[in-house]
Amino acid sequence: MKNEILGIKKKLGSDLLILAHHYQSDDIVSLADNIGDSLKLAQIAEQNKTAKYIVFCGVHFMAETADILTEDDQIVLMPDSNAGCPMADMADDKQLETAWGKLTSLIGDSILPITYINSKAVVKSFCGAHGGTTVTSSNAKKVVSWGMKQKDVILFLPDKNLGRNTAFELGIPLENMAEYDPLTSELSYTCDLKDIRVVLWKGYCHVHNKVDISKVEYIRKNYPDMKIIIHPECTHEVVSASDMAGSTEYIINNISSSPSGSSWAVGTETNLVNRLIAANPDKKIVILDKDSSCTDMNATTLSSLLDTLKDIENNDMKRKVTVPKEISENAKKALSRMLSL
Ligand code: 13P
Ligand code: SF4
Repeated sequence: MKNEILGIKKKLGSDLLILAHHYQSDDIVSLADNIGDSLKLAQIAEQNKTAKYIVFCGVHFMAETADILTEDDQIVLMPDSNAGCPMADMADDKQLETAWGKLTSLIGDSILPITYINSKAVVKSFCGAHGGTTVTSSNAKKVVSWGMKQKDVILFLPDKNLGRNTAFELGIPLENMAEYDPLTSELSYTCDLKDIRVVLWKGYCHVHNKVDISKVEYIRKNYPDMKIIIHPECTHEVVSASDMAGSTEYIINNISSSPSGSSWAVGTETNLVNRLIAANPDKKIVILDKDSSCTDMNATTLSSLLDTLKDIENNDMKRKVTVPKEISENAKKALSRMLSL
């Protein structure tokens, strides 16, 4: 299958661009033209003006983002349309309209909606239409800091953990952060209503949210020299107890540039950690929670990638991902604000 894929790639030349997220399997990564975190892949998609076909090996919101950022005549395809992101599915436009009505009546209208790029296009569109923007785990601090200068309160969605970790890093005390539950429409907070600075949507990534503090404590006790580096989708308790937190690209860069002989416990998705172990034989690297596989990221296989390339050859566009114009216009405003920052 690899040889067939390479053959079609050669035939299509610069008409084809294969992008893969760092959580994809080794097979897929070895065939991609570019690999990256969510920010890097969004930037590459935006900058590429030559590929007619962009095959996105990742999850659905990433392919939607690529479609929003590319030209109208560029076609984005996903090998497996079932590869979603459960966290992105924790916020939709109807829930957001309800939340907005409730929050503006309780808090006033000085609220800015900021969505993690791990979200549906309709959620990005709402943020774009209300002066808000998107963030990735690479730029959350910079973008939320910008947002805090625009309005008194930030509504951060859908990841409560990234929102809390980012706001805390920016100096917002935990007691000034409220949580909004989209299933009950309830807002919970411990400070005075007027002192709320950030409202956290109660969504989370099941892979990172479940990394337990006991894993960190185990490493600290048994391997005191080991550095713990994790993704900021982990809980605030786990992030606070670790040494470093950042995007997949940040994790890779820090481990790759660390001195030979250094040792790391890494709290993120299994495929990436296994690749780090293989690429750094001179370092001791372990996964913080061995049960950290993202099923959706693993949905893309050699066979679905090959089928996608055969579809392109046969001009069969059934795997095309299209965000309708009425959604993409405002979603693009949200993404462009982030990219310009
Ligand atoms: P990155 O932007 O860090 O690659 O993260 C994307 C993601 O889905 C993490 O779970
Ligand atoms: Fe979504 Fe989590 Fe999988 Fe990333 S690791 S794609 S946030 S479910």
